[in-house]
Amino acid sequence: MIWRFCGNTGQPQPLPGSGTAYVYFIDVGQGDCALIRSGETDILIDSGEYDRCTDVFRTLDSLGVQELDYAVISHPHSDHMGCMFRIIEEYGAGTVIMPEIPEQMIPVNVSYTELMAVIERNDIPIIYAKAGTTVDLGEAGMLDIIAPVRTYEDLNNFSAVLRYRFGDAGFLFCGDIEKEAEQDIVSAGCDISADVIKVPHHGSGTSSTRAFVNAVSPRYAVFSAGQENDFGHPHANIVRLYESLGSEILRTDLNGTITFITDGHSINTEKKRPMNSAHSLVFLFVCHTQRKLRQKRENIGGVCVGFYLRHDLCYNAVLIYDESRPDNAH
Ligand SMILES: [Zn+2]
Repeated sequence: MIWRFCGNTGQPQPLPGSGTAYVYFIDVGQGDCALIRSGETDILIDSGEYDRCTDVFRTLDSLGVQELDYAVISHPHSDHMGCMFRIIEEYGAGTVIMPEIPEQMIPVNVSYTELMAVIERNDIPIIYAKAGTTVDLGEAGMLDIIAPVRTYEDLNNFSAVLRYRFGDAGFLFCGDIEKEAEQDIVSAGCDISADVIKVPHHGSGTSSTRAFVNAVSPRYAVFSAGQENDFGHPHANIVRLYESLGSEILRTDLNGTITFITDGHSINTEKKRPMNSAHSLVFLFVCHTQRKLRQKRENIGGVCVGFYLRHDLCYNAVLIYDESRPDNAH
């Protein structure tokens, strides 16, 4: 059943969710892939690149996923839907949710062609994402469709943005929206508050405008990005923005797959690769040294030393250092 959740239809809303819900942000390197599970209901939002199919299969199998009730494609870029046709082939899907992209913007690649072919072959209904509607998941909660609010000229802004609600808990999945779509969402005036945000566009500096982030006001900020990716995701200023607003930072590139568990009131999280305090101390020391060196040689950034000591980690550690030692801050 689909409800209007914001706007002026005045439809009554059923109470969402009972029992327990799990939300997994699956580590697929540079890309997005998240699974919502509650009771018998399984919803996959994005799939990661084609070459990460094995990781997704392994995770779904280890969790005992038999069939997807909903397969969501935020937008047809390969880091979000590259593997989706294989997943639907393998597990099936009751319904597909995706934005309705104008024909001239549809990408010409095997993943998209195969995706549409598998949807057609299996006669899977498609819900085209329209802002202001809600998909009722029964005991498994509600899925609010927040965006796209209108049409755009680039695919990132066309991303389907979804808010999963389970009891009082809310999870916002932002695809790769950028400033333009964020402004439209804020202007539309719908409630987009959420406990957990999948930060837009892997933490790119072109997204996470302050007005949008304020409206979400997340307790946890999840960055889905690959280790040492070519795009510099997540951007250090964006990580800092969420930190400054009091959000706990979680990153698939550092923490691996991230799990949230909620009973509809409280939310707990598990990380696959938590950083321990010894690592943190090493980071602080090496990154402080790195920073001093960088001050002398502007261009010294890039890879630091060893497996854990990469540029992005260093930068974050420097931020922690700055905050604990304001006299050293810049
Ligand atoms: Zn992306």
